Amino acid sequence: MTQKITVIRGDGIGPEIMDATLHVLDQLGAGLEYEFADAGIVALEKHGDLMPKETLESIARNKVALKSPLTTPVGGGFTSINVSLRRHFDLYANVRPAISFPNTRSRYENINMITVRENTEGAYLAEGQEVSADGEVAVSGAKVTRKGSERVVRYAFELARATGRKKVTAVHKANIIKSTSGLFLNVAREVAANYPEIEFQEMIVDNACMQLVMRPEQFDVLVTTNLFGDIISDLCAGLVGGLGLAPGANIGENAAIFEAVHGTAPDIAGKGIANPCALLLAAAQMLDHIGQPQNAERLRKAIVATLEAKDSLTGDLGGTGTTMGFAKAIASRI
Ligand code: ATP
Ligand code: MG
Repeated sequence: MTQKITVIRGDGIGPEIMDATLHVLDQLGAGLEYEFADAGIVALEKHGDLMPKETLESIARNKVALKSPLTTPVGGGFTSINVSLRRHFDLYANVRPAISFPNTRSRYENINMITVRENTEGAYLAEGQEVSADGEVAVSGAKVTRKGSERVVRYAFELARATGRKKVTAVHKANIIKSTSGLFLNVAREVAANYPEIEFQEMIVDNACMQLVMRPEQFDVLVTTNLFGDIISDLCAGLVGGLGLAPGANIGENAAIFEAVHGTAPDIAGKGIANPCALLLAAAQMLDHIGQPQNAERLRKAIVATLEAKDSLTGDLGGTGTTMGFAKAIASRI
């Protein structure tokens, strides 16, 4: 059976890393059919719209998209494309694995965790931001709902269950921010009670940061509100060697979008030297999501084996390989 996915080749290094990723996916024989759709600067030039209606319809139809980084032009009043995609499809869970890989610039070797960040509420509200007329006082609000907390915590537990993970840690600051963080923690406890086979742990965010830096191998799945999740997921990417290997997924009820965490890297765009691994690892997350965990695992193993062999590594990993050369080295190990 073939599964159709929307593929957005994107801006900057986007097309290069996407071509490399599709080359490896073809080798995997996952039965994927690609529906290409434009977004970003390419789309603005072709269709006069950063996020054309056809692209949104394609994602709505296929429910799964693999997306390269996109440029949102500065000025001109454009909202970030990533933010508008998140809003349009109500992509409430941002899921970022942080896994140690060989031969990367990482301080640790045994990290294997996933951060699940609430993506639609918390401190990231457009409304309720105020600065007094004299510029002396600024106020911003935060909103946490039972529904918003419940669905993201449930997602974290379901993910743990589906991938055989053993522990979920809810990260909060309920001791001080009793209202919003308190509600999130209460809901997390309620949801956790439905998953007796998975260990539930609560950790205050400041302690979580220290523990992550000192003993990251103790973590399995982390779930938290928007702002804490934003910070912690970048911290975790840093723990395993940075942007070139950091994938992410944005999950909603009706659509899921898989992407690299890094941006368009204009400084190296068009040179064929970008590391395709982050997008490849996002593709592995996508395979897990669409019910192909064996293929996801084959893909990750091929990436690990290629890193271990230091075969055709790109410049960010200390090699001299090209984007497509690296992809071919990975494909040859599948
Ligand atoms: P954007 O505005 O789209 O976020 P940026 O200038 O912030 O772009 P990033 O893509 O966030 O750039 O990257 C920051 C740095 O990391 C750049 O120097 C870039 O070259 C490097 N980098 C990012 N992704 C990769 C990659 N896949 N392979 C190699 N280097 C990368
Ligand atoms: Mg950037």
